[in-house]
Amino acid sequence: MLMPRLMPMLCPHCGAEVDCHEVVTGKADPGPSDVSICFYCRNLSMYVTGPLGLYLRKPTTAEYDDIVNDPNVTTALHALAVWSMP
Ligand SMILES: [Zn+2]
Repeated sequence: MLMPRLMPMLCPHCGAEVDCHEVVTGKADPGPSDVSICFYCRNLSMYVTGPLGLYLRKPTTAEYDDIVNDPNVTTALHALAVWSMP
C-alpha cells in the first residue's frame, strides 16, 4: 500500500504527528476542505491552508455534521476500525 508523505502536521485532537495519508476519493494529495481521519485517535479534521502551508484544524459543528454522514468518510472509518481489530 502506497502512503504518500506530507509535510508533518499535528492532529488538532490528540497532537499526534501526521506525515502521510491514504486516499479514498482518488485524489493524489489532500487540499483545503478535504477531511482527515487521525490514525491514532480516529477523530475528524479539516485540511486548511495557512501562511506556512497546509495544516489540520477541528471541524466546526456544522462541518462535522456534514462530513460524518459522507459515505466516503463512513467507509473510511469502518475500514480503519476493521484494520485495527486484533
Ligand atoms: Zn488524533
